[in-house]
Amino acid sequence: MTTPRILPRLDQDNRDFWTGGEVGELRITQCQDCRTFIHPPRPVCHHCLSDNVAAKAVSGEGTIDTCLINYNPWFPGMEVPFVVARVALDDAPGVIITSNIVGSPVDEVDFGDRVKVTFLNQEDVWIPLFEKAA
Ligand SMILES: [Zn+2]
Repeated sequence: MTTPRILPRLDQDNRDFWTGGEVGELRITQCQDCRTFIHPPRPVCHHCLSDNVAAKAVSGEGTIDTCLINYNPWFPGMEVPFVVARVALDDAPGVIITSNIVGSPVDEVDFGDRVKVTFLNQEDVWIPLFEKAA
């Protein structure tokens, strides 16, 4: 999908998540005290309230928790159909990323499919997308 996206405004909390794709890394914030993963990225751990958090590169592999196919062009020029999915990451327990599944016909994407991250660069942001694992 090459439709221009509404991009996030980068700040010190989310920059690692949105720019890790420049070097092929999916970076998830992790509490350095209790090891809980925190997503979306925040400056304080929601589990132990520590502010000792840092981004960690994860494998980018995961499983589709649930998904839907969007057929509605919400604005002029939007390419449809596309898949919106919630992806549970293998090595970041509790983290679910809502994204798109790309590279496969939409009717070949289903719950439980194994996926791997890929990135779409727009301006200074690398958007994590997922494609079906081989
Ligand atoms: Zn913590």
